[in-house]
Amino acid sequence: MTYQITKPRGIIDLGVGQPDPQLLPAALFQSSGVQRQDLAYGEEAGDRRFRTLLAEFLSQDTGLTQSLSTHAALQQGIEAEQLLITTGSSNALDLICSRYARPGDTVLVEDPTYFIALNQFAEHGLKVVAVPMDEHGLCVAALELALQQHRPAFIYTVPSYHNPTGITQPESRRQALVALAKRYQCLLVADEVYQCLYFDAAPPPPLACFDPEAPVLSIGSFSKILAPGLRLGWIQASSEVLPRLLQSALLKSGGGLAPVTSALVASLMARGEFQRFLTDLRRTLRARRDRLHHSLQARLGAQLDINCPDGGYFLWATLRDGGDASESLSAARREGVSFLAGQRFSVNDRFTASMRLCFAWYDEDELDEACVRLARALG
Ligand code: PMP
Repeated sequence: MTYQITKPRGIIDLGVGQPDPQLLPAALFQSSGVQRQDLAYGEEAGDRRFRTLLAEFLSQDTGLTQSLSTHAALQQGIEAEQLLITTGSSNALDLICSRYARPGDTVLVEDPTYFIALNQFAEHGLKVVAVPMDEHGLCVAALELALQQHRPAFIYTVPSYHNPTGITQPESRRQALVALAKRYQCLLVADEVYQCLYFDAAPPPPLACFDPEAPVLSIGSFSKILAPGLRLGWIQASSEVLPRLLQSALLKSGGGLAPVTSALVASLMARGEFQRFLTDLRRTLRARRDRLHHSLQARLGAQLDINCPDGGYFLWATLRDGGDASESLSAARREGVSFLAGQRFSVNDRFTASMRLCFAWYDEDELDEACVRLARALG
Protein backbone atom coordinates (compact mmCIF):
# COMPACT_ATOMS: atom_id res chain seq x y z
CA MET A 1 0.00 0.00 0.00
CA THR A 2 1.36 3.44 -0.89
CA TYR A 3 1.23 5.71 2.10
CA GLN A 4 -0.70 8.91 1.39
CA ILE A 5 -1.59 11.80 3.63
CA THR A 6 -2.07 14.56 1.08
CA LYS A 7 -4.19 14.39 -2.03
CA PRO A 8 -2.15 14.89 -5.20
CA ARG A 9 -3.19 17.96 -7.19
CA GLY A 10 -4.83 17.60 -10.56
CA ILE A 11 -6.07 14.04 -10.25
CA ILE A 12 -8.95 12.58 -8.27
CA ASP A 13 -7.76 9.06 -7.59
CA LEU A 14 -10.72 6.86 -6.65
CA GLY A 15 -8.28 3.96 -6.46
CA VAL A 16 -7.02 5.10 -3.04
CA GLY A 17 -8.71 2.86 -0.44
CA GLN A 18 -7.77 4.85 2.65
CA PRO A 19 -9.58 7.16 5.07
CA ASP A 20 -9.64 10.87 4.30
CA PRO A 21 -6.88 12.48 6.48
CA GLN A 22 -9.36 15.27 7.30
CA LEU A 23 -11.49 12.69 9.12
CA LEU A 24 -8.71 11.38 11.39
CA PRO A 25 -9.57 12.40 14.99
CA ALA A 26 -6.24 13.84 16.18
CA ALA A 27 -7.88 15.89 18.94
CA LEU A 28 -9.42 12.80 20.59
CA PHE A 29 -5.99 11.32 21.23
CA GLN A 30 -4.54 14.37 22.93
CA SER A 31 -6.71 13.77 25.99
CA SER A 32 -6.40 9.99 26.29
CA GLY A 33 -4.29 8.81 29.22
CA VAL A 34 -1.64 6.08 29.32
CA GLN A 35 -0.82 4.54 32.73
CA ARG A 36 2.39 2.96 33.96
CA GLN A 37 1.02 -0.61 33.64
CA ASP A 38 0.39 0.02 29.94
CA LEU A 39 4.11 0.48 29.46
CA ALA A 40 5.00 -2.98 30.78
CA TYR A 41 4.92 -6.30 28.88
CA GLY A 42 1.30 -7.39 28.67
CA GLU A 43 -0.78 -10.54 28.33
CA GLU A 44 -0.16 -12.61 25.21
CA ALA A 45 -3.74 -12.22 24.01
CA GLY A 46 -3.62 -8.45 24.62
CA ASP A 47 -4.65 -6.16 27.47
CA ARG A 48 -7.63 -7.64 29.36
CA ARG A 49 -9.40 -4.34 30.09
CA PHE A 50 -9.23 -3.44 26.42
CA ARG A 51 -10.44 -6.89 25.33
CA THR A 52 -13.36 -6.61 27.75
CA LEU A 53 -14.36 -3.19 26.37
CA LEU A 54 -13.89 -4.42 22.80
CA ALA A 55 -15.99 -7.54 23.45
CA GLU A 56 -18.77 -5.36 24.87
CA PHE A 57 -18.63 -2.99 21.89
CA LEU A 58 -18.62 -5.84 19.36
CA SER A 59 -21.50 -7.65 21.06
CA GLN A 60 -23.62 -4.52 20.70
CA ASP A 61 -22.40 -3.16 17.41
CA THR A 62 -21.87 -6.08 15.05
CA GLY A 63 -25.46 -7.05 14.40
CA LEU A 64 -25.34 -9.84 16.98
CA THR A 65 -28.15 -8.63 19.22
CA GLN A 66 -30.44 -7.85 16.26
CA SER A 67 -29.92 -11.33 14.79
CA LEU A 68 -30.43 -13.34 17.97
CA SER A 69 -34.18 -13.46 17.48
CA THR A 70 -33.88 -15.02 14.01
CA HIS A 71 -31.08 -17.48 14.58
CA ALA A 72 -31.16 -19.30 17.91
CA ALA A 73 -27.73 -20.96 17.54
CA LEU A 74 -25.94 -17.60 17.51
CA GLN A 75 -23.74 -16.82 20.44
CA GLN A 76 -25.38 -14.52 23.00
CA GLY A 77 -22.41 -12.17 23.11
CA ILE A 78 -18.71 -11.96 22.37
CA GLU A 79 -16.39 -12.68 25.32
CA ALA A 80 -12.97 -11.16 26.06
CA GLU A 81 -11.53 -14.72 26.07
CA GLN A 82 -12.44 -15.11 22.39
CA LEU A 83 -10.35 -12.11 21.37
CA LEU A 84 -6.67 -11.78 20.51
CA ILE A 85 -5.27 -8.30 19.92
CA THR A 86 -3.13 -7.70 16.81
CA THR A 87 -1.42 -4.75 15.17
CA GLY A 88 -4.12 -4.54 12.48
CA SER A 89 -5.85 -6.95 10.23
CA SER A 90 -2.87 -7.47 7.90
CA ASN A 91 -0.85 -8.54 10.96
CA ALA A 92 -3.68 -10.88 11.97
CA LEU A 93 -3.62 -12.52 8.55
CA ASP A 94 0.14 -12.87 8.74
CA LEU A 95 -0.11 -14.59 12.14
CA ILE A 96 -2.78 -16.92 10.77
CA CYS A 97 -0.64 -17.82 7.73
CA SER A 98 2.32 -18.56 10.02
CA ARG A 99 0.37 -20.73 12.45
CA TYR A 100 -2.08 -22.58 10.17
CA ALA A 101 -0.30 -22.99 6.84
CA ARG A 102 3.02 -24.27 5.45
CA PRO A 103 4.67 -23.21 2.18
CA GLY A 104 3.06 -25.13 -0.67
CA ASP A 105 -0.36 -25.30 1.04
CA THR A 106 -3.45 -23.99 -0.72
CA VAL A 107 -5.76 -21.14 0.33
CA LEU A 108 -9.24 -20.74 -1.14
CA VAL A 109 -10.29 -17.13 -1.81
CA GLU A 110 -13.18 -15.31 -3.45
CA ASP A 111 -12.83 -14.21 -7.05
CA PRO A 112 -12.33 -11.22 -6.98
CA THR A 113 -10.61 -10.55 -3.65
CA TYR A 114 -8.51 -8.01 -1.73
CA PHE A 115 -5.22 -7.99 -3.64
CA ILE A 116 -2.91 -7.29 -0.68
CA ALA A 117 -4.15 -10.50 0.97
CA LEU A 118 -3.07 -12.26 -2.23
CA ASN A 119 0.39 -10.71 -1.84
CA GLN A 120 0.53 -11.89 1.77
CA PHE A 121 -0.37 -15.46 0.75
CA ALA A 122 2.33 -15.36 -1.95
CA GLU A 123 4.90 -14.23 0.63
CA HIS A 124 4.06 -17.28 2.75
CA GLY A 125 4.54 -19.54 -0.27
CA LEU A 126 0.85 -20.43 -0.41
CA LYS A 127 -1.01 -21.42 -3.58
CA VAL A 128 -4.23 -19.53 -4.17
CA VAL A 129 -7.33 -21.06 -5.72
CA ALA A 130 -10.13 -18.59 -6.52
CA VAL A 131 -13.76 -19.61 -5.98
CA PRO A 132 -16.61 -17.77 -7.77
CA MET A 133 -18.97 -15.33 -6.04
CA ASP A 134 -22.61 -14.55 -6.76
CA GLU A 135 -24.66 -11.55 -5.59
CA HIS A 136 -24.63 -12.98 -2.04
CA GLY A 137 -20.88 -13.57 -1.85
CA LEU A 138 -18.79 -16.74 -1.91
CA CYS A 139 -20.68 -19.58 -3.71
CA VAL A 140 -21.33 -22.51 -1.41
CA ALA A 141 -21.46 -25.30 -4.03
CA ALA A 142 -18.27 -24.11 -5.73
CA LEU A 143 -16.57 -23.82 -2.35
CA GLU A 144 -17.52 -27.39 -1.43
CA LEU A 145 -16.09 -28.67 -4.71
CA ALA A 146 -12.86 -26.74 -4.12
CA LEU A 147 -12.63 -28.10 -0.55
CA GLN A 148 -12.84 -31.65 -1.92
CA GLN A 149 -10.33 -31.01 -4.70
CA HIS A 150 -7.69 -28.97 -2.88
CA ARG A 151 -7.81 -29.78 0.87
CA PRO A 152 -6.77 -26.18 1.66
CA ALA A 153 -5.04 -24.88 4.79
CA PHE A 154 -7.84 -22.34 5.11
CA ILE A 155 -10.55 -20.37 3.32
CA TYR A 156 -10.26 -16.54 3.18
CA THR A 157 -13.43 -14.48 2.75
CA VAL A 158 -14.52 -10.84 3.17
CA PRO A 159 -18.19 -11.22 4.26
CA SER A 160 -19.26 -7.59 4.79
CA TYR A 161 -18.92 -4.77 2.22
CA HIS A 162 -16.48 -6.92 0.31
CA ASN A 163 -13.32 -5.40 -1.11
CA PRO A 164 -13.64 -4.84 -4.08
CA THR A 165 -17.32 -5.60 -4.94
CA GLY A 166 -19.11 -4.13 -1.88
CA ILE A 167 -21.22 -7.33 -1.56
CA THR A 168 -22.44 -8.43 1.91
CA GLN A 169 -23.19 -12.07 2.66
CA PRO A 170 -26.72 -12.51 4.07
CA GLU A 171 -27.20 -14.54 7.24
CA SER A 172 -28.19 -17.73 5.38
CA ARG A 173 -25.00 -17.61 3.31
CA ARG A 174 -22.91 -17.12 6.44
CA GLN A 175 -24.59 -20.10 8.09
CA ALA A 176 -23.92 -22.27 5.03
CA LEU A 177 -20.24 -21.30 4.87
CA VAL A 178 -19.71 -21.93 8.58
CA ALA A 179 -21.48 -25.32 8.28
CA LEU A 180 -19.15 -26.25 5.42
CA ALA A 181 -16.06 -25.25 7.42
CA LYS A 182 -17.30 -27.46 10.26
CA ARG A 183 -18.11 -30.44 8.03
CA TYR A 184 -14.73 -30.35 6.30
CA GLN A 185 -12.88 -29.25 9.46
CA CYS A 186 -11.27 -26.51 7.40
CA LEU A 187 -10.40 -23.18 9.03
CA LEU A 188 -12.56 -20.32 7.75
CA VAL A 189 -10.88 -16.89 8.01
CA ALA A 190 -13.30 -13.96 7.72
CA ASP A 191 -11.67 -10.58 7.07
CA GLU A 192 -14.27 -8.25 8.59
CA VAL A 193 -12.52 -4.88 8.55
CA TYR A 194 -15.67 -3.19 7.16
CA GLN A 195 -18.18 -5.00 9.44
CA CYS A 196 -18.81 -1.97 11.70
CA LEU A 197 -18.99 0.49 8.79
CA TYR A 198 -22.69 0.01 7.99
CA PHE A 199 -24.83 2.91 6.78
CA ASP A 200 -28.32 1.59 7.66
CA ALA A 201 -28.91 -1.64 9.61
CA ALA A 202 -25.89 -3.63 10.85
CA PRO A 203 -24.93 -6.55 8.61
CA PRO A 204 -25.43 -10.11 9.93
CA PRO A 205 -22.98 -11.00 12.74
CA PRO A 206 -19.31 -11.94 12.29
CA LEU A 207 -18.81 -15.49 11.02
CA ALA A 208 -17.11 -16.44 14.32
CA CYS A 209 -20.46 -15.94 16.15
CA PHE A 210 -22.35 -18.70 14.35
CA ASP A 211 -21.19 -22.04 15.72
CA PRO A 212 -18.88 -22.61 18.71
CA GLU A 213 -17.85 -25.96 17.21
CA ALA A 214 -16.82 -24.67 13.78
CA PRO A 215 -13.21 -23.58 13.15
CA VAL A 216 -13.75 -19.90 12.33
CA LEU A 217 -11.62 -16.78 12.88
CA SER A 218 -13.09 -13.31 12.34
CA ILE A 219 -10.54 -10.55 11.84
CA GLY A 220 -11.32 -6.93 12.74
CA SER A 221 -9.43 -3.65 12.73
CA PHE A 222 -9.55 -0.03 13.90
CA SER A 223 -8.03 1.10 10.59
CA LYS A 224 -11.34 1.94 8.94
CA ILE A 225 -13.39 2.83 12.02
CA LEU A 226 -10.94 5.08 13.87
CA ALA A 227 -7.45 5.52 12.35
CA PRO A 228 -5.12 3.22 10.37
CA GLY A 229 -1.99 4.68 11.97
CA LEU A 230 -2.97 3.05 15.26
CA ARG A 231 -2.11 -0.35 13.75
CA LEU A 232 -4.63 -2.02 16.02
CA GLY A 233 -6.92 -4.94 15.29
CA TRP A 234 -8.19 -8.23 16.67
CA ILE A 235 -8.96 -11.84 15.93
CA GLN A 236 -12.24 -13.26 17.24
CA ALA A 237 -12.27 -17.05 17.50
CA SER A 238 -15.41 -19.18 17.42
CA SER A 239 -13.96 -22.13 19.26
CA GLU A 240 -10.80 -23.87 20.38
CA VAL A 241 -8.72 -22.41 17.54
CA LEU A 242 -7.26 -19.54 19.57
CA PRO A 243 -4.74 -21.51 21.72
CA ARG A 244 -2.75 -22.45 18.62
CA LEU A 245 -2.38 -18.78 17.74
CA LEU A 246 -1.38 -17.96 21.31
CA GLN A 247 1.55 -20.34 20.96
CA SER A 248 3.12 -17.85 18.58
CA ALA A 249 6.71 -17.06 19.61
CA LEU A 250 6.08 -13.46 18.59
CA LEU A 251 3.27 -13.07 21.13
CA LYS A 252 5.11 -14.98 23.86
CA SER A 253 8.33 -13.02 23.55
CA GLY A 254 6.61 -9.68 23.07
CA GLY A 255 4.07 -10.07 25.89
CA GLY A 256 1.19 -9.51 23.48
CA LEU A 257 0.78 -6.79 20.88
CA ALA A 258 0.13 -3.06 21.10
CA PRO A 259 -0.45 -2.49 24.86
CA VAL A 260 0.00 1.30 24.69
CA THR A 261 -2.24 1.71 21.65
CA SER A 262 -4.83 -0.56 23.27
CA ALA A 263 -4.78 1.65 26.38
CA LEU A 264 -5.36 4.78 24.29
CA VAL A 265 -8.31 3.25 22.47
CA ALA A 266 -9.66 1.71 25.70
CA SER A 267 -9.91 5.16 27.27
CA LEU A 268 -11.80 6.48 24.19
CA MET A 269 -14.14 3.48 24.37
CA ALA A 270 -14.75 3.79 28.12
CA ARG A 271 -15.74 7.45 27.65
CA GLY A 272 -17.97 6.69 24.65
CA GLU A 273 -15.90 8.97 22.43
CA PHE A 274 -14.96 6.24 20.00
CA GLN A 275 -18.61 5.21 19.60
CA ARG A 276 -19.65 8.83 18.93
CA PHE A 277 -16.85 9.26 16.40
CA LEU A 278 -17.92 6.08 14.60
CA THR A 279 -21.54 7.22 14.39
CA ASP A 280 -20.45 10.49 12.76
CA LEU A 281 -18.06 8.67 10.43
CA ARG A 282 -20.83 6.37 9.19
CA ARG A 283 -22.97 9.42 8.44
CA THR A 284 -20.16 11.10 6.49
CA LEU A 285 -19.34 7.99 4.48
CA ARG A 286 -22.99 7.34 3.77
CA ALA A 287 -23.37 10.85 2.29
CA ARG A 288 -20.24 10.26 0.19
CA ARG A 289 -21.52 6.89 -1.01
CA ASP A 290 -24.83 8.53 -1.98
CA ARG A 291 -23.15 11.34 -3.87
CA LEU A 292 -20.86 9.02 -5.83
CA HIS A 293 -23.71 6.65 -6.62
CA HIS A 294 -26.16 9.33 -7.75
CA SER A 295 -23.60 11.22 -9.77
CA LEU A 296 -22.38 8.05 -11.48
CA GLN A 297 -25.94 6.94 -12.17
CA ALA A 298 -26.89 10.32 -13.64
CA ARG A 299 -23.82 10.64 -15.86
CA LEU A 300 -22.92 7.06 -16.73
CA GLY A 301 -26.03 5.03 -15.86
CA ALA A 302 -26.42 3.87 -19.48
CA GLN A 303 -22.85 2.58 -19.69
CA LEU A 304 -22.29 1.09 -16.25
CA ASP A 305 -23.82 -1.60 -14.09
CA ILE A 306 -23.39 -0.17 -10.62
CA ASN A 307 -23.22 -2.24 -7.44
CA CYS A 308 -24.01 0.23 -4.66
CA PRO A 309 -22.94 -1.12 -1.21
CA ASP A 310 -24.80 -0.68 2.11
CA GLY A 311 -21.56 0.20 3.90
CA GLY A 312 -17.77 0.07 3.69
CA TYR A 313 -15.58 1.97 1.25
CA PHE A 314 -16.15 0.67 -2.26
CA LEU A 315 -18.55 0.89 -5.14
CA TRP A 316 -18.05 -1.64 -7.95
CA ALA A 317 -19.02 -0.62 -11.49
CA THR A 318 -18.90 -2.74 -14.64
CA LEU A 319 -18.88 -1.59 -18.27
CA ARG A 320 -22.08 -2.90 -19.84
CA ASP A 321 -20.43 -3.42 -23.23
CA GLY A 322 -17.81 -5.70 -21.65
CA GLY A 323 -15.02 -3.29 -22.60
CA ASP A 324 -11.63 -3.34 -20.88
CA ALA A 325 -11.63 -0.93 -17.92
CA SER A 326 -7.83 -0.89 -17.73
CA GLU A 327 -7.79 0.45 -21.30
CA SER A 328 -10.09 3.30 -20.23
CA LEU A 329 -7.72 4.11 -17.40
CA SER A 330 -5.26 6.13 -19.49
CA ALA A 331 -8.12 8.20 -20.97
CA ALA A 332 -9.44 8.69 -17.43
CA ARG A 333 -6.05 9.84 -16.16
CA ARG A 334 -5.80 12.34 -18.98
CA GLU A 335 -9.11 13.77 -17.75
CA GLY A 336 -7.79 13.86 -14.16
CA VAL A 337 -9.49 10.88 -12.53
CA SER A 338 -8.35 7.38 -11.65
CA PHE A 339 -9.66 4.08 -10.26
CA LEU A 340 -8.51 0.50 -9.75
CA ALA A 341 -9.26 -1.85 -12.63
CA GLY A 342 -11.10 -5.06 -11.68
CA GLN A 343 -8.45 -7.41 -13.02
CA ARG A 344 -6.13 -6.36 -10.21
CA PHE A 345 -8.32 -8.29 -7.75
CA SER A 346 -8.38 -11.59 -9.61
CA VAL A 347 -5.80 -14.38 -9.77
CA ASN A 348 -7.59 -15.54 -12.92
CA ASP A 349 -7.34 -12.18 -14.76
CA ARG A 350 -11.13 -11.89 -14.73
CA PHE A 351 -13.26 -8.75 -14.14
CA THR A 352 -11.55 -6.79 -16.91
CA ALA A 353 -14.75 -4.76 -17.45
CA SER A 354 -15.02 -3.69 -13.80
CA MET A 355 -13.63 -0.86 -11.71
CA ARG A 356 -13.40 -0.29 -7.97
CA LEU A 357 -14.27 3.25 -6.92
CA CYS A 358 -13.49 4.29 -3.33
CA PHE A 359 -15.72 6.95 -1.72
CA ALA A 360 -13.81 7.28 1.58
CA TRP A 361 -10.82 9.40 0.57
CA TYR A 362 -12.60 12.33 -1.15
CA ASP A 363 -15.42 14.64 -0.06
CA GLU A 364 -18.78 14.84 -1.84
CA ASP A 365 -17.90 17.64 -4.26
CA GLU A 366 -14.66 15.95 -5.27
CA LEU A 367 -16.55 12.70 -5.89
CA ASP A 368 -19.01 14.58 -8.08
CA GLU A 369 -16.18 16.15 -10.04
CA ALA A 370 -14.59 12.68 -10.41
CA CYS A 371 -17.80 11.48 -12.10
CA VAL A 372 -17.82 14.47 -14.47
CA ARG A 373 -14.28 13.56 -15.52
CA LEU A 374 -15.04 9.85 -15.75
CA ALA A 375 -18.02 10.59 -17.99
CA ARG A 376 -15.75 12.63 -20.30
CA ALA A 377 -13.21 9.79 -20.41
CA LEU A 378 -15.73 7.04 -21.08
CA GLY A 379 -18.00 9.13 -23.29
N1 PMP B 1 -8.47 -6.32 4.75
C1 PMP B 1 -9.20 -5.67 3.84
C2 PMP B 1 -10.31 -6.39 3.14
C3 PMP B 1 -8.90 -4.34 3.55
O1 PMP B 1 -9.63 -3.69 2.62
C4 PMP B 1 -7.86 -3.67 4.25
C5 PMP B 1 -7.51 -2.22 3.98
N2 PMP B 1 -7.49 -1.85 2.67
C6 PMP B 1 -7.14 -4.39 5.19
C7 PMP B 1 -7.47 -5.70 5.42
C8 PMP B 1 -5.99 -3.77 5.94
O2 PMP B 1 -6.35 -3.58 7.27
P1 PMP B 1 -5.30 -3.12 8.41
O3 PMP B 1 -4.99 -1.68 8.19
O4 PMP B 1 -6.03 -3.39 9.68
O5 PMP B 1 -4.09 -4.00 8.28
